[in-house]
Amino acid sequence: MSLHPFVTVTELRQGLASGEYSAVELTQYFLNEIRRQQPTSNAFITVDEQGSLNAAAAADAQIAEGQAGALTGIPMAHKDVFCTNNVLTTCGSRMLENFVAPYDATVVHNLQSAGMVCLGKTNMDEFAMGSSNENSAFGPVANPWHAKHVPGGSSGGSAAAVGSGQIPVATGTDTGGSIRQPAAFCGITGLKPTYGRVSRYGMVAFASSLDQGGLFAHTAQDIALVLGSMAGFDAKDSTSAQRQDNWLEEIAQLGIPQTPTNLKIGLPAEYFQAMSDTQQLDDVRQTLENLGHTCVEVALPNTQMAIPAYYVVAGAEASTNLSRYDGVRFGHRCENPQSLEDLYQRSRSEGFGEEVKRRILTGTYALSVGYFDAYYLQAQKIRRLISDDFSNVFGQVDLLLTPTAPGPAFAAGALKQDPVAMYQQDKFTVPASLAGLPALSMPCGFKQGLPLGAQLIGPAYREDLVLGLA
Ligand code: GLN
Repeated sequence: MSLHPFVTVTELRQGLASGEYSAVELTQYFLNEIRRQQPTSNAFITVDEQGSLNAAAAADAQIAEGQAGALTGIPMAHKDVFCTNNVLTTCGSRMLENFVAPYDATVVHNLQSAGMVCLGKTNMDEFAMGSSNENSAFGPVANPWHAKHVPGGSSGGSAAAVGSGQIPVATGTDTGGSIRQPAAFCGITGLKPTYGRVSRYGMVAFASSLDQGGLFAHTAQDIALVLGSMAGFDAKDSTSAQRQDNWLEEIAQLGIPQTPTNLKIGLPAEYFQAMSDTQQLDDVRQTLENLGHTCVEVALPNTQMAIPAYYVVAGAEASTNLSRYDGVRFGHRCENPQSLEDLYQRSRSEGFGEEVKRRILTGTYALSVGYFDAYYLQAQKIRRLISDDFSNVFGQVDLLLTPTAPGPAFAAGALKQDPVAMYQQDKFTVPASLAGLPALSMPCGFKQGLPLGAQLIGPAYREDLVLGLA
């Protein structure tokens, strides 16, 4: 059997329903693709051959009994930040190199219950800190369009796996851009839902007030189908949103029912002014206007302060979240500790990589007595101003259109020695994260042979609008 590399969930669903192939054959096909591409791509940390073939056989039995749901037998992969019972969860770190969680994350549980078949866990920047996947303890990932360029990060493995046809759909997490930027770099679609839409239970924590699980696929339609089963209130996550959005159940069965018409779309001046070349975005604008939507310029005046505020807040939360890796309860433990202090110090020094240490140090500094008011408190105030900017424009427009990243995928190694330049990669994705809003990146053309992404940002809980327009 042979499938085209951009095959969609919607097409696979038809193939399974018509009996063109079985779920086991489909799983074998994608396992082969992973095996064939892994030596150059390195998109996976763990491949679960036996587990996935067993799950596929169970899916075939369900299909034969006429019990199949919309996603039964569809192959997928999880970013290695989601805990999976019986399968390694490394979070891209030496610290968790041998960690097997005793339970499934809610996201893992939900998609498994919907009949999806998980083929493995994808590569990522250590603890989701990075924009290039060069911070993984398991090696870098190649961009599917150019092997010497980065796939973006931190969900680089998921984005590259989907972009190169190793898997049709994959989960990711986005704290400041980790779904949208790699989606743009790999030429696919990626959605970060509203904060609270997808459960964080069993998702290894980086910055808890920002972390949100989401999806990569070739189309917004595919993302809608899977999101319908993945999202929803979870009593095990205290920040999970308790909402009754009937369209969520609808998209789980049918995908997006209809494309929104006559929208008013805002183009934030601050984002466009920061770009040297907006040709592809101008084309998107033209397409939207041809479809009958209206585009207007809007202002988000506090945009420039987003990056400094984000790196203070995210670092502070990371420094507290990562204090649990102390060499005592789980994770890496050093050999022959001489004292408790020595155990902490060496376990953490050996287990964490350079970028993670940088975040812990700067985050701890920002939270220290004497510096708290100057850094952390200021950053929280800026976060509120940025949130208010969005609330103001959503009184005037339905959605926002922006670039996803400053340019196409950069060359491997180009920014690795310059953390501040690396952080600037996130300048168009971080504001929506600070405000907790749903945002999506969709492909919008090429530059120098590499794909570019356009970002749509919506009001809170309006993933239906964002996905519908995309
Ligand atoms: N690149 C950003 C960072 O390093 C965002 C990461 C993310 O969204 N997980 O913090």
